[in-house]
Amino acid sequence: MSEICYPKNHQMLSVAQAQTAILDAIESINQQELIALPQALGRVLAESLYSPIAVPPQNNSAMDGYGFNSSEIIENQAFTLTVIGASWAGKPFTGKLAKGQCIRILTGATVPNGVDSVIAQEQVSIDNDQVQFPANTQAYKNIRPAGSDVQENQLLLKAGKTLSAIDLGLLASVGLSQIPVKRQLKIAFFSTGDELTPLGESLGFGQIYDSNRYQLAGLLNHPNYLVTDLGIIKDNQAVLEQTLSKAAKQYDLLISTGGASVGDADFVKQSLDNCGEVNFWKIAIKPGKPLAFGKIGECWFFGLPGNPVAVLVTFEKFVKPALQKLAGTNVSQVLQLSARCENRLRKQAGRQEYQRGILNQTAEGELLVQLAGGQDSHQLSVASLANCFIVLPADCDGIELGETVIVEPFQSGI
Ligand code: AMP
Ligand code: MG
Repeated sequence: MSEICYPKNHQMLSVAQAQTAILDAIESINQQELIALPQALGRVLAESLYSPIAVPPQNNSAMDGYGFNSSEIIENQAFTLTVIGASWAGKPFTGKLAKGQCIRILTGATVPNGVDSVIAQEQVSIDNDQVQFPANTQAYKNIRPAGSDVQENQLLLKAGKTLSAIDLGLLASVGLSQIPVKRQLKIAFFSTGDELTPLGESLGFGQIYDSNRYQLAGLLNHPNYLVTDLGIIKDNQAVLEQTLSKAAKQYDLLISTGGASVGDADFVKQSLDNCGEVNFWKIAIKPGKPLAFGKIGECWFFGLPGNPVAVLVTFEKFVKPALQKLAGTNVSQVLQLSARCENRLRKQAGRQEYQRGILNQTAEGELLVQLAGGQDSHQLSVASLANCFIVLPADCDGIELGETVIVEPFQSGI
């Protein structure tokens, strides 16, 4: 493993600096496996794939109509041809056309030799086996040439692509049934905090339910990830160290939440120092200032803040790109839009804020955004109402009503 190269502790990093440091440190896994195409949705292609065939394999008709040879066309004059057979999708016409003849042809049917043009059925008039073509009949129309979608040996998809539903259709269209993909990432997470109560138990005085693990499980729900929930770890150094060193041997990436604030940081830091090479950063981001990142043995480690909305923001901004890089796929560029802000937004210069907003589009197409509610980092109910982040750069010191702001719709990527 190469030396992790990232800024030293105690410096306040910008969001971009932290993202770059994380992505520079992480290298993609290179193990791959061959899986059946229907299982490949969302997986990362491990090798570039080329088409073994042309699609369509032969010329076929784009219309229900009549196939004929363009040499039959008489300029500015209607003409009549005799129908001598039909080509259906899957049941091609095998005969031969002589002068003065045409065939009935249906959409997707193979275009036989000697036919180079198809006319839509609505444009002709038929009398028994006689088809009258109009004066303006055009040559070479309504035929999809062989290879007009994909040519034989054409590059179909590049290594590193996360396979979409469209990609699965494309791979099936060229007959590829076994797909080489990167192996899934093994990811585990746990919560820390003596105040946390798991679901199914009643709350004691001073306790809260652990919500982070359930949010994280949702955020990590992806075909590329094999996810393990390691539960709640009490604020206890020995237990934490045991958890960290055991998990580091089994997973590619480990995420903890909580224990990063000043009161807890000492023993969490001590545990991480004892187990691996983890840096505690202060990032100019709100919510989510404290973040631990590094390695325990061969396992990547993210120590996220405890507050649930900070978990959401730091996951999206730091963990997600790291997972994409580790998985061997392209780090998705987050879609940013400009919207008119319907509130005054309070902010102090210093940190880049990801306020939780509700984005709407007017009938005229204008994008409007308003705050989803209170912006404290424990207010998960507000984050749940939101459908976007309102991104306020570090140097911004507030937004006036009607000003334009940058928004990032949730789940957006390009
Ligand atoms: P900490 O970073 O451990 O000091 O936690 C910061 C805040 O987040 C505290 O109010 C914690 O109670 C809260 N918190 C920590 N972990 C969780 C969790 N798993 N679910 C809900 N709230 C949490
Ligand atoms: Mg705590």
